[in-house]
Amino acid sequence: MTELTRSASRSLTRRSALATLTAALAAPSLAPGAAATGSLPPENRTPTGAIRSYADMQRELERIARASGGAVRVTTLSEQGTAEQFSEQGRELYVATVGHGPEPVWIQGRVHGDEPYGLDACVTVLDRLAAGGSADVARVRDEFTVHVIPMYNPDGSEMNTRTTTLWDRAQDAPVRDAEGAPVTVDLNRDWRLDGFRARESRAWYEYWTRVRPSFVLDLHHQSVKQSAQTGEDISFSLGVSLAPGGPTLPEVRGGEYDVLTRQMIGHVWQSVRHRGHISADRYDVGDGQVIDIRGGVVSAMMLGLNWNGLNADGHANPAVFFETSGNTREGGLGQKARGKLLKQNVVATMALLTGWADSTVTEVDPAVWDEIPHAPVEAYVTDWGGVIPA
Ligand SMILES: [Zn+2]
Repeated sequence: MTELTRSASRSLTRRSALATLTAALAAPSLAPGAAATGSLPPENRTPTGAIRSYADMQRELERIARASGGAVRVTTLSEQGTAEQFSEQGRELYVATVGHGPEPVWIQGRVHGDEPYGLDACVTVLDRLAAGGSADVARVRDEFTVHVIPMYNPDGSEMNTRTTTLWDRAQDAPVRDAEGAPVTVDLNRDWRLDGFRARESRAWYEYWTRVRPSFVLDLHHQSVKQSAQTGEDISFSLGVSLAPGGPTLPEVRGGEYDVLTRQMIGHVWQSVRHRGHISADRYDVGDGQVIDIRGGVVSAMMLGLNWNGLNADGHANPAVFFETSGNTREGGLGQKARGKLLKQNVVATMALLTGWADSTVTEVDPAVWDEIPHAPVEAYVTDWGGVIPA
């Protein structure tokens, strides 16, 4: 834990969680004129009634903080005093912390705004951790300080878009390119030395350099998917954004994360594989292609990216991601399945936390990675070298 994190924790415990939250809620959280409706044609829209909004997130965090008796602390990056503090459109960036352990952990949802259940999973996991009760949860709270970011990309979430839109604050309008189109940024490709185009990226990156997590989980949605082997519907894909055994990860920290990420995913898969409501496999993008993206948020964390001198000593951490099948972008996210799609994220997230806390994760045979259903890997889709044959 860094000095900055320690002092931030101290200042948070001095104030009541509710006072913190009330101050955050009272601050202006939305630029006037910020777009609030989706851009999908109506026929492609998933009914959005059950998809939580930014205001819903604020209400949920307030509820959890109040009910937790101080166990869950809610804050914003403007309170934390990062150089960038808001989204492009001026929304506050929220983080909830729970636990009092020495190891910081980072869980983020909705870096892609139209992938909604990362937020829901974060809320339910916070509820679980706040409630305490079981020995497993007590151990997590003793070992970790968990930083939960339910909505990394609030503007995209409100617009129901994958990306965020760069915003001209003087004009209170989107920044436009030479053709007059709004300039959008995929926040999960923006953590690179020539990136950090969006305020969200700069704000969350600085916060990451303060937190210095031990490990990270990133929650996404994918398209509707069938198993390459059996044709059955896949509800949940598990992945690493720098491919294990791929062109990048074996070279990072002497191969440490190449092993550790296989153990993390292997442990999660072993924890969910016999659950009837979850059909899990390894993530791919189709045609035997897997990703190896260096500008992804959690990839850059694994690479120990040092941007603007903020990570001069090269903190790095292993990271994995979960993909729930179906998204609002393609209209493939039915409301009927919401309960079980949410539950699989909660079960898997709790498995990762408890498994790390009791050292089960690091005892997993990394070869379990090979047992997880997957199509043969034929190529790596990269954001740095095109498509590279495996
Ligand atoms: Zn995504």
